[in-house]
Amino acid sequence: MSSRRNNRHCRIGLLLAQLFPAIACEPADADTAYDTTGGELEEFAAFAEPGAEDEGSSRPCITPEEYEVLFAEVARNTAALGLDGMSPDVRPRQATVQFEWPLRQVGAADPGYHAITNYVDHAGPGEVLDLACGTRTYDGHRGIDISLWPFPWLKVENSEIEVLAAAPGTIVSRADGNFDRRCSWISGARANFVVLRHADGSTSYYYHMKSGSVTNKQVGDTVATGERLGVAASSGISTGPHLHFEVRDGANNVIDPFVGACNPTITESRWVSPRPYHDPAIVKLTTGSAAPEIPGCPEVEEPHLKRQFCRGDLAVFTAFFRDLLPDAPATMVVRRPDTTVALQWQLNVSRYLTKGYYWKSWQLPADAPAGTWSFEATYSGQTFSQSFTIAKKGKACATNQ
Ligand SMILES: [Zn+2]
Repeated sequence: MSSRRNNRHCRIGLLLAQLFPAIACEPADADTAYDTTGGELEEFAAFAEPGAEDEGSSRPCITPEEYEVLFAEVARNTAALGLDGMSPDVRPRQATVQFEWPLRQVGAADPGYHAITNYVDHAGPGEVLDLACGTRTYDGHRGIDISLWPFPWLKVENSEIEVLAAAPGTIVSRADGNFDRRCSWISGARANFVVLRHADGSTSYYYHMKSGSVTNKQVGDTVATGERLGVAASSGISTGPHLHFEVRDGANNVIDPFVGACNPTITESRWVSPRPYHDPAIVKLTTGSAAPEIPGCPEVEEPHLKRQFCRGDLAVFTAFFRDLLPDAPATMVVRRPDTTVALQWQLNVSRYLTKGYYWKSWQLPADAPAGTWSFEATYSGQTFSQSFTIAKKGKACATNQ
């Protein structure tokens, strides 16, 4: 029993992108403590680099040809609907419509469900520059890519992330019925989308939605803020489930709704509730019977969720994060029913990462106190917990006693 620490295995993970060397299997005793009566521990961590994302990277969410067709249709419909009479006093970039967040989670209540993987590119061709003078974008990107995370394909399967109208508007273009499990750039792939025209002449674009999910409302119909437009997926020019949200003013200039030193398009935020450029958060905590399986696109992930355990069972505790910042440790704790700490570990990265997860498995001790335990994570000033139970007897646990 005393050699248990030496039995602990550690593996290094790769999440859709590059290896993160700082999480290599260094002795973690300094920041990891665990129950001396517990079983073998195994741990695993994986991260995504900014700009090395599963979607968007060097790929147009909307191709120049698609924009051309779209702009023509939007202009035609706008004129036909009599919506193009913008006051001459309103210069394009004095547009005033403010936007609510364009997504919501349904049927689940995780602390989060997304990570922003690409902002608007403000540099000329061949260069990249996001609103904060960084590189969280790709050449020629005109919108914001909000990626579903974690388990993006499971979220698509369950229609879990709905796309919402960010402001009141009139539908001036829409499409549905197109293939929604794209994993790579395919020339001519058509997206399921909605374009809204707002009161100040600006337009907002909602791209890559799930086939059959787009609102039944048609061109010319109006929608309210927060009204469901469809379900986030991966239709069109897309390599993974995300919403491409794009804003243009009445003269069709791109508007980046986030204020930043390198965003010349606005001086005041166009969000009702602005989010920070880096928005570090815990997005999900799980307890499971095995490590989460995250196969290649477009296969649906298997989280192996489990909430009721018996003594001696293998339990896997996983914490999922977005916008991991350097020198800002996350702490994970497993608490017994009396709230004492049975297991504790930390995650501390050495550079910014868009997404990451860290799991630890534990063979539950033969004398683990029965009752309701909790798996808790604290990061960026927020603590979330997920309860689970350990039983000592009963039909389900008969073989373990
Ligand atoms: Zn995009």
